[in-house]
Amino acid sequence: MARLPLIAGNWKMNLNHLEAISLAQKIAFRLPEKYFAKVEVAVLPPFTDIRSVQTLIDGDKLLIKHGAQDLSPHDSGAYTGDVSGVMLAKLGCTYVTVGHSERREYHHEDDELVNKKVRAAVKHGIVPILCVGERLDVREAAGHVEHCTSQLIAGLKGLKAEQVAKVVIAYEPVWAIGTGKVATPADAQEVCAAIRAALAEKYGQDVADEVRVLYGGSVKSGNISELVKQEDVDGALVGGASLDAEEFAKLCALA
Ligand code: PEP
Repeated sequence: MARLPLIAGNWKMNLNHLEAISLAQKIAFRLPEKYFAKVEVAVLPPFTDIRSVQTLIDGDKLLIKHGAQDLSPHDSGAYTGDVSGVMLAKLGCTYVTVGHSERREYHHEDDELVNKKVRAAVKHGIVPILCVGERLDVREAAGHVEHCTSQLIAGLKGLKAEQVAKVVIAYEPVWAIGTGKVATPADAQEVCAAIRAALAEKYGQDVADEVRVLYGGSVKSGNISELVKQEDVDGALVGGASLDAEEFAKLCALA
């Protein structure tokens, strides 16, 4: 089944609203319309920049999409500092990353919380990009496939098969994020294929064939082509390289 590749730029905690507008504008400007038939492009600014980016995209009818980097499992209430799916939906977010390794590590998010966030996103019509990935010690002990498929199944708990079909999964080995050490295409394919096989076993082959599985971890224009050539790699979640308009647009064009 043909899946439209997705390249999502995770801007992390960078840029003020003017810089965010400028970056989104430059990315869109560098990507002629014809590319959007072959690849979907999304940017994930910090919460404080989402409104600015949304206004730009809507106002200029840009073909890139936008989303957020996290959401609360709750809809509203006394949760100081949190931002809910209701709020993100009002900001026109198409995507939200959930369970990024930086949230799992620095905010101690476990699979149960990640699952609540995935369900909150789905409830509000936002596509979760569920991130899974192993630390280096787990890979060295050859536990990476089991670790990732276990995070996957826990993260999707309670969703119906038709909801799972719309979710995006990002395989992001922790040792590759922000380190310049990209997984080999074969390593990325091994885990992405195992993710699809686990989805097929639990939700059926049709669902597994529809789900987009991305790779993330030090992706650049120089390595994207080999990664997306792999049968089960349907695009990338990009951190550092998404902050450079020229590099990110180049990477999108090569996906
Ligand atoms: C990320 O933050 O999801 C990521 C993959 O970062 P980088 O591309 O910088 O490794």
